[in-house]
Amino acid sequence: MAQLLSGTAVSAKVLERIAEETRTLPVQPTLAVIIVGDDPASRVYVNNKKKACAKAGFRSLEYALPAEAGQAALLGRIAALNADPSVHGILCQMPLPKSFGYDEQEVAQAISPEKDVDAFHPVNVGHIMLGEPLFQPCTPAGVLELLDDAGISLAGKHVAVVGRSNIVGKPMALLALHRHATVTVCHSRTADLAAVTRQADVLIVAVGRANFITADMIRDGAVVVDVGMNRLDSGKLCGDVDFAAAQAKASWITPVPGGVGPMTIAMLMRNTLTAAKASCGILGMK
Ligand code: NAP
Repeated sequence: MAQLLSGTAVSAKVLERIAEETRTLPVQPTLAVIIVGDDPASRVYVNNKKKACAKAGFRSLEYALPAEAGQAALLGRIAALNADPSVHGILCQMPLPKSFGYDEQEVAQAISPEKDVDAFHPVNVGHIMLGEPLFQPCTPAGVLELLDDAGISLAGKHVAVVGRSNIVGKPMALLALHRHATVTVCHSRTADLAAVTRQADVLIVAVGRANFITADMIRDGAVVVDVGMNRLDSGKLCGDVDFAAAQAKASWITPVPGGVGPMTIAMLMRNTLTAAKASCGILGMK
């Protein structure tokens, strides 16, 4: 029976450490969150980020724009926050409303790289690629923090990452590579997915389909990290892995909820702390 990798417990420890460090700083780290429209899932994510700010001792600012505000108004808000020295981190909650002509790439590039705590700006993506990021990609960094807490090393292991999105799969593969794993990245065109996943010592799944990974796709004793967050018709949240069956085969497994989700937010707080420290010269910007 697998042991649980509890994001709830580990993220609480991380937030405590951040709060401790925050008390020693000459500035109060400040995160500005922009939300456009009234998507209920985005509202939950933004509220969770504000709660984490409170736990970390940060100031949080929320800017809620109506869905019809438009790209120019959004870019104007970002420009004002870029210019405000009391704001250390800026994020725009994604996805943006489908109508009204929003361009998410342009938004990611509009946020000043020194305040881009989601690490979506091409400059920060480049630093991640080079293995020397100031800001860590939040979800992949959260996965590593969970593994570190359990004493699970990736060096020399075969890590299979299922999913190749810019925010999870690709940076996850790079971070695992920097930790000396042998990495296979799978996606919708992978010919025989189960043949790859069955060879993985560590299986990291970010697809967005409930119960997509079944027990027969998991090697005995593998570490299984489920990034997926799917809302069932019943309203229940579940991951991409058939948890009950996988638990019998894996050595370690993340639950959903309570796994990678809270870790992502904890890493966002860590990036905001880093931005605040850099703003007062406590650490140098790369
Ligand atoms: P995404 O951009 O939709 O990417 C999904 C990936 O899954 C794509 O690369 C896609 O391949 C791949 N895929 C789809 N069908 C597949 C199949 N049959 N076999 C193999 N691969 C397949 O999603 P995302 O943003 O990475 O998010 C993935 C999941 O993680 C979602 O449930 C999301 O809600 C969740 N998530 C959770 C957190 C967290 O903090 N826990 C953070 C971010 C995302 P192609 O590239 O070939 O299309």
